[in-house]
Amino acid sequence: MKFTNSPMQEVTFNNRKLYIKRDDLLDTHFSGNKARKFYYFYKNDFKNINKLVSYGSAQANSLYSMSVLAKLRGWNFEFYVKHIASFLKNNPQGNYKAALENGAKIIEKNVEDLNCFIKKNIYQCDDTLYIQEGGREKEASYGIEILANEIKTWQHENDIKDLLVCLPSGTGTTALFLQKYLDCEVVTCSCVGKDEYLKKQFFMLEENEKYHPKILEKPKNYHFGKLYLEFYEIYKQLKKQTNIEFDLLYDPLGFISLFNSSYIKTNRTIVYIHQGGILGNPSMIERYNRKFCFKK
Ligand SMILES: *Cc1c(COP(=O)(O)O)cnc(C)c1O
Repeated sequence: MKFTNSPMQEVTFNNRKLYIKRDDLLDTHFSGNKARKFYYFYKNDFKNINKLVSYGSAQANSLYSMSVLAKLRGWNFEFYVKHIASFLKNNPQGNYKAALENGAKIIEKNVEDLNCFIKKNIYQCDDTLYIQEGGREKEASYGIEILANEIKTWQHENDIKDLLVCLPSGTGTTALFLQKYLDCEVVTCSCVGKDEYLKKQFFMLEENEKYHPKILEKPKNYHFGKLYLEFYEIYKQLKKQTNIEFDLLYDPLGFISLFNSSYIKTNRTIVYIHQGGILGNPSMIERYNRKFCFKK
């Protein structure tokens, strides 16, 4: 199995030429930035480990990707969630359903119970490997450096001098390590919290601000996971104009911020990273249809 070397695709969106780094196409089951972030744990030897533990939201892309990782490695997998909505329990779907099918044990339990790992800041304890929420780990740099090198190779082969790389952030881990390993400018936007939160995340992984990506301004404040008509509209436009399905949580804001910025009016070559995550789309689309009463 090979979880590297995704294709680069040229597209035009709203009359602007862009390149899409198709990390969503890495592998059907192990793709997107989670595959990059967890590559270290896929590739390296972990003696005596037979269990993987993590935590986060019951719908998280990282939940599904970790269930695939655990399956590939033959590890048991426990995922702690503060609360699982009864609707989801009774109607498993998306990442949650797919993770269960991979044998994940999704447990309602407080994150504080993982103190042994969090406090000591270690990721191995007896026979258990622990990965932080969303893969915010310095080990993530291992796979992201490979992604950066793929972009660099493409850049040199095509003699591109004014490259700009853009991607939306959750924890900011992917954007931060990309900025560290690329020679060009990396821009991002904060999808999960305010810009100050993202900045803090950057500092947790890298003290030197020189390596922090630039945070693009957003036209207004958005709350993660909430439904916004403009998100659904740009998602549909992207699909129509590029024939590519993007995720509904991060990418709408990524494209809105990019197309709102002055970069789009320059001649610079722009690469947008498709970070996967479309397994959650059907349930998001259902929510959009319910909320805004679209006809199917
Ligand atoms: C996890 C995820 C992100 C955020 O990645 P970070 O490294 O946490 O910033 C963005 N897009 C998609 C599709 C994701 O699954």
